[in-house]
Amino acid sequence: MSKIDIPSWIKESERKTIIDTKRDVTIIVIVWVLLIAIAFSINLSGAIKEKTQTLMQTARVIFQEIVITREWNSGHDWVYVPITDKTQPNPYIISPHRDITAETGLKLTQINPAYMTRQLSEISSKSHGPKFRITSLNPIRPENKPTEWEQKALKLFKNNAQEVGVLIKDESGNHFIYMAPLITKSECLVCHVEQGYQVDDIRGGISVILSSITPFKIMPLALGYIAIGICGVFIIVVFVGKLDKAYRELRKQSVTDPLTQIPNRRDFTMHIIQEFNRSKREGSKLSILMCDIDNFKAYNDTYGHKRGDECLQIVAKVIEQTLNRPADFCARYGGEEFILILPHTDIDGAAHVAEKMRQNIVKLSVAHEGSPNHKIVTLSLGVGTCSSLDMVYEDLIKKADIALYKAKANGRNRIEIFQEHLPEQTKEDNE
Ligand code: GH3
Ligand code: MG
Ligand code: MG
Repeated sequence: MSKIDIPSWIKESERKTIIDTKRDVTIIVIVWVLLIAIAFSINLSGAIKEKTQTLMQTARVIFQEIVITREWNSGHDWVYVPITDKTQPNPYIISPHRDITAETGLKLTQINPAYMTRQLSEISSKSHGPKFRITSLNPIRPENKPTEWEQKALKLFKNNAQEVGVLIKDESGNHFIYMAPLITKSECLVCHVEQGYQVDDIRGGISVILSSITPFKIMPLALGYIAIGICGVFIIVVFVGKLDKAYRELRKQSVTDPLTQIPNRRDFTMHIIQEFNRSKREGSKLSILMCDIDNFKAYNDTYGHKRGDECLQIVAKVIEQTLNRPADFCARYGGEEFILILPHTDIDGAAHVAEKMRQNIVKLSVAHEGSPNHKIVTLSLGVGTCSSLDMVYEDLIKKADIALYKAKANGRNRIEIFQEHLPEQTKEDNE
């Protein structure tokens, strides 16, 4: 059983008929939503990165200011300040000159960089500014012992990290903790030589805490993207809907005869291939009817081309209405010729439909003065039926065509059936 090769233009056309708008819209919408999600996550991570970099920069500047202040202090071999309740002598300063009395009797004590840093931090945190503290894995002052996070940072510095900064959240809000290492300079050795430090050693670090950071607001950004996403989906649905409507309209026009509004020859070719293949597959009968209006040239000559068009419309309607099975199909084959496909119909069934069609046209009694015998519009019909698995669909059309010409030759307004058992019949035989 050989399957017919479908011409490429029909394949293309058929392919387009199975455009599934719902499926296509779903795919486009999914791709659109994915793009929006990707754009949102790129934008979000960029915004978070930018915010972190700004905080990092702020904390870095504070750290550098502290280091400069400490250098100023150590550059002056530590400064003397009056002893007060708040500024008591620092027990960790081991120096014979730690406390002195001025000639005026004012008692002074030395403030080293570590003590100064602590006092500056207290002032800063009281005014809700950044908090900072010196810390070390090997502190002279026990209170300078590092927290767990600071310990990790100090270990990272030993592995050449230049600075560490991280956003954290606790019950009091969002904070940014920054830490950078304190590098030992020669003047630092005054206090730290006994700990075994040398110049350029990492002695510890200063951590800076920026408190009450306004959290990054994801919601406005997310809402913006959701709005863009929804607008996009709306545009896709509307646009694809319009496109689909326009496509269906165009497609309908491409397969419809503009005068009679029944399918055209192009549509017929697609249908006959489908039905022919199906009939071969299922081993079912398939019949074709070819109809031709009799003496139609004379009709045009008598009543004019416009009336001729109207007559074609009426005949097309009757042919269409005479068909009553959903699978039956009729088309305008050309000029005043019509063609019908009757699936699952044997030769007797097809002849019955053909005769009914002929009678229905006669019943119309459309005046046709140019018709020599009948004086009304009549139809001649030829019937062809599939009889061999080896034939091609063009053979079936040829059979119906030959039968039609036989009907013409035998007086018109009649049906003829292509007879299988007769010797090869040709159109010429009938003319
Ligand atoms: P026969 O009985 O042998 O079929 O004779 P006929 O006159 O019908 O056949 P013929 O092929 O000689 O003429 C067909 C005529 O159909 C010629 C043409 O003017 C007319 N015709 C074809 N298409 C149209 C159309 O779209 N509109 C109109 N008004 N006439 C058409
Ligand atoms: Mg004709
Ligand atoms: Mg004709």
